[in-house]
Amino acid sequence: MHGFNADTEALGEAILRYVENRMRLHPVPLDGPRTLEQLQSVAGNTITTEGMGGLAALKLFGDELALACLSSDHPRYLSFIPCAPTEAAVMFELVVGASGIYAGSWLEGSGAVFAENAALRWIADLAGLPAQAGGVFVPGGTIGNLSALVTARWAARSRRQRSGSTAPGPTKVASHQGSHSSIRSACDVMDAELVGVAGDEHQRLNGDNLRAVLEAEGPETFFAVVATAGTTNFGIVDDLDSVAKVCHEYGIWLHVDGAYGGAGLAAPTVRHLFTGIEHADSFIVDPHKWLFAPFDCCALLYREPALGRGAHAQKASYLDVLTDAQWNPSEYSIGLTRRARGLPLWFSLVTHGTHAYTAAIEATLEMTRFAEAEIARRPYLEALREADLSVVVFRRHGWEPADYHAWSAEMMREEFAFVVPTSHEGETVARFAIVNPATSQDDITAILDTMA
Ligand SMILES: *Cc1c(COP(=O)(O)O)cnc(C)c1O
Repeated sequence: MHGFNADTEALGEAILRYVENRMRLHPVPLDGPRTLEQLQSVAGNTITTEGMGGLAALKLFGDELALACLSSDHPRYLSFIPCAPTEAAVMFELVVGASGIYAGSWLEGSGAVFAENAALRWIADLAGLPAQAGGVFVPGGTIGNLSALVTARWAARSRRQRSGSTAPGPTKVASHQGSHSSIRSACDVMDAELVGVAGDEHQRLNGDNLRAVLEAEGPETFFAVVATAGTTNFGIVDDLDSVAKVCHEYGIWLHVDGAYGGAGLAAPTVRHLFTGIEHADSFIVDPHKWLFAPFDCCALLYREPALGRGAHAQKASYLDVLTDAQWNPSEYSIGLTRRARGLPLWFSLVTHGTHAYTAAIEATLEMTRFAEAEIARRPYLEALREADLSVVVFRRHGWEPADYHAWSAEMMREEFAFVVPTSHEGETVARFAIVNPATSQDDITAILDTMA
């Protein structure tokens, strides 16, 4: 089973050929879900006492199972947030997998940690965070948000303890009512109370509305404010500057959730929307969303990494050899064992240079403007609001919810496009999230034409 022999060699060639063939397809097939019964009948019991051999297993995967998985890098996959990694990043996943790297500690993975930290530094610089800022790549925005909020509460509690106070610590988090579901979930995990703040006339969290809620509830009861830099449903960026000023005034931790939109920091045409982000105490962005890295990858950054360490470093006798003087990524988030999930992003950044990233993000923003113009030009369609970033939400006049669902299901069945409806204030509407530079004007118009 272990050891490189003729079988391994044949399998290696088959795997490389498989990867090459998949990467050469433009576009890749969209594919789609199958039922459990269908998969049972084509794949059956795959795990047997003697094994089926690697070539047969690869064939089974390629001929059946892979076809039952949507390609999130398809140019007409515009639902949720697509994932459109660069070829360089995808290929480097193979290298990471083959390299036996444990990336939780400097002792074990210093070369990988060094490279991951360079990628984190690039992001920190885009946000204007200070030189000491740092963090870790975690699996996704959900874990990133939770890890940041745990740190925020730890920081508030330790400050209280240092001041000699025995009063109970703060237990609340404030965010715009439209913040991501993972903020609610993090508060549930932490048994913290999430207090919603109404948006301004642009549906953004701003300093005035935040201040009113903090004053009404008692600012000392809050350990964090979460601002969103690009909501998932609409791409709305909160008024970070005014929010940061209020957080500073009350001494409350500011966490910025840029899981989707944070990539806009690299795009000069929208960079101004993020003014104030440089004051964040913590910040996340998912490179698997709009920074062209493969799943699953979230960059978590702290202004003061020592606070992340205070909250998250695990103490166990078998970990004693990992000394305090070294940068151990595991000490900055929930989780101990970790793979070097930041390396594909790093490799692609090093390969292409950062200008290529700016150009690719700007191209998706231009395609979003094109989609908005096409929607405006069609009398049967209407956008709900102007897009801040690369998400367009629009209605088809005269359609009931069932019409949207039937339209979406039909496009999926034909493997034509993956565009699921969303809802806004109770209304079912259509939505495009455009983060794939391969999405073309033809893709946009072809989909819109089906709504005529
Ligand atoms: C996607 C998203 C998350 C959650 O990130 P995962 O990587 O899916 O866990 C959190 N916040 C926002 C704004 C998002 O768009």
